Amino acid sequence: MKFYPLASTLILGFGILSAPALSVADGLPDLGEAAQAEFSPAMERRIGESVMLDIRRDPAWLDDPEVTSYLNRLGNRLAAQSAEARQEFEFFALRDTTLNAFAMPGGFIGVHTGLILAAASESELASVLAHEISHVTQRHLARLVNKSGQGQVTSLLALAVAILAARSSPDLAMGAAMAGQGAAIQNQLNYSRDFEREADRFGLGVLERSGFDIRGMSSFFERLQKFGRLYENNAPGYLRTHPLTTERLADMGNRIQSRPYRQVADSLEFQLVRAKLRAQDGTPRDAVTEFEARLKDRSFAGSEAAVRYGLAQAQLRERNLAAAEKQMGELRRLKAVSPMIETLAAQLRLKQGDAAGAVKILRDAQPRFPQERAIAYGLVESLLEARQPQQAIKVTEDELLNYPSDAKMHALQAQTWSLLGRRLQQHRAQAESYALLGQVPQAVEQLELAQKAGDGNFYEQSQVDSRLRELKKRLADEAKQPKLPK
Ligand SMILES: [Zn+2]
Repeated sequence: MKFYPLASTLILGFGILSAPALSVADGLPDLGEAAQAEFSPAMERRIGESVMLDIRRDPAWLDDPEVTSYLNRLGNRLAAQSAEARQEFEFFALRDTTLNAFAMPGGFIGVHTGLILAAASESELASVLAHEISHVTQRHLARLVNKSGQGQVTSLLALAVAILAARSSPDLAMGAAMAGQGAAIQNQLNYSRDFEREADRFGLGVLERSGFDIRGMSSFFERLQKFGRLYENNAPGYLRTHPLTTERLADMGNRIQSRPYRQVADSLEFQLVRAKLRAQDGTPRDAVTEFEARLKDRSFAGSEAAVRYGLAQAQLRERNLAAAEKQMGELRRLKAVSPMIETLAAQLRLKQGDAAGAVKILRDAQPRFPQERAIAYGLVESLLEARQPQQAIKVTEDELLNYPSDAKMHALQAQTWSLLGRRLQQHRAQAESYALLGQVPQAVEQLELAQKAGDGNFYEQSQVDSRLRELKKRLADEAKQPKLPK
């Protein structure tokens, strides 16, 4: 069981929230007014970002660039079809077997791995995301809080924290709600029927325009309801925050019936992501057994490649590398094309001590999948294993030109500089990684270490000095802002 310490989140949150952008000088209301006024989408985003700081430190946070990039591709494909979506979205997964998905203020949408595994088709998963996207674009959270007439920023933060606590345990949500804004929050946790209907209606439109099977929405919600009946004490969290009424299902059914039937095949990526998550679930032996059984029965559910990929992932976990290589051979024979297959192939080479082989696989894959972060990370890691840190630095520099806010790439660069014995550069890169994750005090600490390193040239030294001044000012500005009462 997890608990998000409410007080620390609120205070931490406010530190971030009340960064300089909230000052009168920038044309935004100060905190006093902000607490009363309806908030802007920009302020909602700040609240969401502050809560994300805590989420990223949660052990359940799924730090898997392949799953994350799949969710973001799917989610942004849907968001692009939402006429109202003028904001950014960020989708993320949490390792949790319960069925849930939730929207945070500011367009941050979380999905439990349990829900991804429970979806019977990609259209079903897309329907949940489309529904959540619609809660965001219709600004339902802000509207809920505005209605309550309480301190607005405080309420929205408390609401966001309560949603997090509710995602796995309703009792904790109640506790968080009590500690925050009182019982009123608990009622707000549940979207109203009107908001649900609106999210369904907008969500269906988004789903249809994105080319998915709109029947996915009703079939998935019916599945959720069935799960709810099966596990009385463990009703999907999703149904608690998105109450599913008979009326809602009927309304959805009517809308869907009037539309032409459309068969939509699942993407290979969807199948591979699910296979990867399944392979990581439970013991390695269980996972191997399950995939072997599916292979034996030829129960491929649309993709033999995904079953073989899942088996290879499970065998890798079990350290049966020869068996995993055999499945990799089968994947090549099937001519399945996906960056996920390349990263697995490289990982298998690495585990067998063949770093040069891994580098070759990823060097070949990179121009074919230039946007795939996992390929780039894998390439840097393989180059480090192959003891080619100079080559690795070159890759990180090229990547950071295109993706300057990639915190993980900055961290990999720090690791590479450290191998090269370049201490100033190491701490400087590590500082950027922390700063991007919102961990400003740690970033300052790293820059102070960089200052003392004494192995940089004049130009590098002055860059460190000016970046340090910038971040210290950011910290000081945050410290001046009022804290929330505990
Ligand atoms: Zn909903």
